[in-house]
Amino acid sequence: MCADRVTAPRPVGLLPLVSRQNAGQPSATLDFTVLHWLRERRRRKLLASPFPAGWEAHLLRNVGHYQWLEERDRQHLRDLVRVFVAEKRWEGCGGLSLSDEMRVTIAAQACLLVLGLPHELYRNVESILVYPSTVVAPQRRLRSFEVPLSPVEGPLPILGQAGLRGPVILVWDAVKRTGRHPESGHNVVYHEFAHKLDMLDGRADGTPPLHGRDEYRRWTRICAREFHMLRERAERGERSLLDAYGATSEAEFFAVATEQFFDQPVAVRRHHPELYGVLQAFYRQDPAARVALRSV
Ligand SMILES: [Zn+2]
Repeated sequence: MCADRVTAPRPVGLLPLVSRQNAGQPSATLDFTVLHWLRERRRRKLLASPFPAGWEAHLLRNVGHYQWLEERDRQHLRDLVRVFVAEKRWEGCGGLSLSDEMRVTIAAQACLLVLGLPHELYRNVESILVYPSTVVAPQRRLRSFEVPLSPVEGPLPILGQAGLRGPVILVWDAVKRTGRHPESGHNVVYHEFAHKLDMLDGRADGTPPLHGRDEYRRWTRICAREFHMLRERAERGERSLLDAYGATSEAEFFAVATEQFFDQPVAVRRHHPELYGVLQAFYRQDPAARVALRSV
């Protein structure tokens, strides 16, 4: 469980929905094929209608990174947003009445992370709980196999939370603030969904599923060195481009690095070129080049 104080295959219809568990089981494979077909049909129908009026304005106003995307990527992101909004379960908490603006803003930032990846649209995220403002979690520990339905740990105020099992919890005023101001280097949605990518292999250890031994080797060498450098600087009280919260653990390091990779890509590439390189290879995106292109 992570409680945070802050914070290719392109068309959706071609999202790989492969379930390795079904291999070699004829009836399970048949069920899976039917489910896959139904889901693809539902998605095609959804995407055949026009992008809802007003949603583009939410993206332009609340998703800082959207302005840097080329039109082809914007189209891809809009498709992902529609599917994500439709397929996830959304719940307003603490008296919050959820609006399209909230769903679209959160969905777009979550989907930006997987824009270049073969993915299953966060198969480990079923629901998203949104609170109006900072949550102070009750101080208690999870029981074995308990799926949290509200923030746990504490008693520090939190702006987001993601666990191995259970929903992503977000605070709307932090989502809006950090989405509109990428220059701050903080983005609570990137942060929590980076945790969910990290957890796809069943562990929150700062290493998401990678492609092959060489990539794991390079990832470990560079991220371990950067993490220890950040930790040493934090212990000495020295400032660093990377937020000191990333020194808390390897998992937090990956989440913080992801926030800054998408929010402050030029600075990360300049000050941490190797870290930028492994994140660029993992996400299959080059946000610094995007920013440079838009600045010309
Ligand atoms: Zn975190």
